[in-house]
Amino acid sequence: MADKVKVTVWNEFLHERTNAAAKKLYPDGMHAVIAESLRAAGDIEVRTATLDEPEHGLTKQVVNDTDVLIWWGDMACHEVSAAIVKRLEKMVLAGMGLIVLHSGRLSRIFRKLMGTSCLLRWCGVPDKERLWNLEPGHPITEGIGEYIDLPDTEMYSERFDIPAPEKLIFVSRFKGGDVFRSGCVWERGHGRIFYFRPGHETCPVFYNEDVQKVLVNAVRWAKPRIVKDGTCSNTQVLKKLESKKVGCGF
Ligand code: ZN
Repeated sequence: MADKVKVTVWNEFLHERTNAAAKKLYPDGMHAVIAESLRAAGDIEVRTATLDEPEHGLTKQVVNDTDVLIWWGDMACHEVSAAIVKRLEKMVLAGMGLIVLHSGRLSRIFRKLMGTSCLLRWCGVPDKERLWNLEPGHPITEGIGEYIDLPDTEMYSERFDIPAPEKLIFVSRFKGGDVFRSGCVWERGHGRIFYFRPGHETCPVFYNEDVQKVLVNAVRWAKPRIVKDGTCSNTQVLKKLESKKVGCGF
């Protein structure tokens, strides 16, 4: 049997301790609910880490032993230390997968890898969302129908300041007509990155079966094919190619 994919679910874990609605919905934190749904898939080994832990729970040992990092952050994105961001960036470029959820778009690691502000328009009033599945053949949408409906969500709207996605997987439409690029993928170095929009802390999004399915699929898609640091080496000029006597030759 193939080795399990090793996932670290990172959550700043502040809203669930300070906001009554978030606490009621996610008493042990969103990371606990996400971790449980990933474990249920059977082929994923999960650990969690939070902001308050030493090195934010992202020690060298943990990061080196992580195939895919899932990131939820919001109000404390600036509190993540530069040294940890550097560590994560190096690992993504070497091949670690990164899945960024909802307001994790503001995280220092995501902004660093995107090179843009990742700002957008948003509205804090509860809204309804339909995520259209634009890529039914993509591994991230395996088992997902034409769309996912989320009856209780937070609205995000364009323009979302990101580099053009290498593939756009989901587009959301909200009640008032706003639209948003909700599922986007990129590669940076050897690492695969997936941004997935749903996941506001006072909405029950991480209990939604389709959302859970998308996350499992995304983990399987983002797992490293290789893990290899970039190198800058001096080298010799290649020998001239020998021309062959057969064929047109050159
Ligand atoms: Zn939110």
